[in-house]
Amino acid sequence: MISVRNLEKRYGDLRAVSELSFEVERGEIVGLLGHNGAGKTTVMKVMTGFLEPTRGTVTIGGVDVTADRIGVQRQIGYLPENAPLYPEMLVQEYLLMMAELRGIDPGDRVPAVADAVKATGLEGRLVQPISTLSKGYRQRVGLAQAILHRPDVLVLDEPTNGLDPVQIVEIRDLIRRLAQTTTVILSTHILSEIEAVCSRVVILIDGQLAADDTLAHLLSSNVVRVRVGAGAKDVPRVLAKVEGVESVKREGERGGYSEWRAICAEGVDATPAIARAALDAGWTIGGITPETPSLEQVFRDLMARHVSEARQAPKKSPSKKEVAA
Ligand code: ATP
Repeated sequence: MISVRNLEKRYGDLRAVSELSFEVERGEIVGLLGHNGAGKTTVMKVMTGFLEPTRGTVTIGGVDVTADRIGVQRQIGYLPENAPLYPEMLVQEYLLMMAELRGIDPGDRVPAVADAVKATGLEGRLVQPISTLSKGYRQRVGLAQAILHRPDVLVLDEPTNGLDPVQIVEIRDLIRRLAQTTTVILSTHILSEIEAVCSRVVILIDGQLAADDTLAHLLSSNVVRVRVGAGAKDVPRVLAKVEGVESVKREGERGGYSEWRAICAEGVDATPAIARAALDAGWTIGGITPETPSLEQVFRDLMARHVSEARQAPKKSPSKKEVAA
């Protein structure tokens, strides 16, 4: 549905995005995750035809955004960061105006607004001036204008930025509902947002692709934590013999249990085999659990790897830090 290929975007000497490629399939909710200034908004502006790429291509539903910007914009609903709204307008006035600007036929505008209002739960706010709405409701108005023309793709730039915890939950529920019929790509620097809403994540660090994976895979690890009674005999030998276990490390002793980490071969879940071996050995079992890193930990590791690779890499063109200096 969305294809980004070798995308580069420069602002003068500053390379905000480089060599970025990823795909989004129909029906996916993909999170574009990155630190402040990682290039998320830039990518979204290129995807939606508001910025020209310096190099590379973006296609939406097979249409190239550079060759046919309007064709792409017809398929996309875009909620920019800090969506510009007209505060003095009533909600329904604003949405009807946006329906007109979207080129929806006059006879179809009222039904289109009614559908968008229903989908975003704005029924009780139609005749309220936008300036008097809470931030969460203003964000709903932004989402309503984004779906007026029933787009195939929703591009949401930091959709919960600045909302309180209750509003965040409401908007996330809303995005999940909208995603039942629409492909969604949303940007955020909030890790919990990704975990709450997305099935796949594209991680950007300094404008470069650092990871593109399902959450399930990113948050899986090849380590099994084993907690057995402190009196258990031969633990490293028994664990090392389990098929799929490559090495065993002792973590220490706590509360009458000794703790171990069994490092397994890539892609192997040795948990059941370890459990069987522990039972056969007659150990008292305090827990045998696959280790699950947090997304925060994954992100920190990717950052650390990126920094160390950047230190080793030969210089090609100025990085953001060099330009800033
Ligand atoms: P944030 O999470 O803070 O919104 P972001 O990941 O969306 O950040 P971008 O807004 O895409 O990042 O910015 C990427 C880099 O490009 C930053 O260093 C930013 O300062 C720079 N940048 C963005 N827009 C422009 C512009 N119009 N002119 C020059 N530099 C820009």
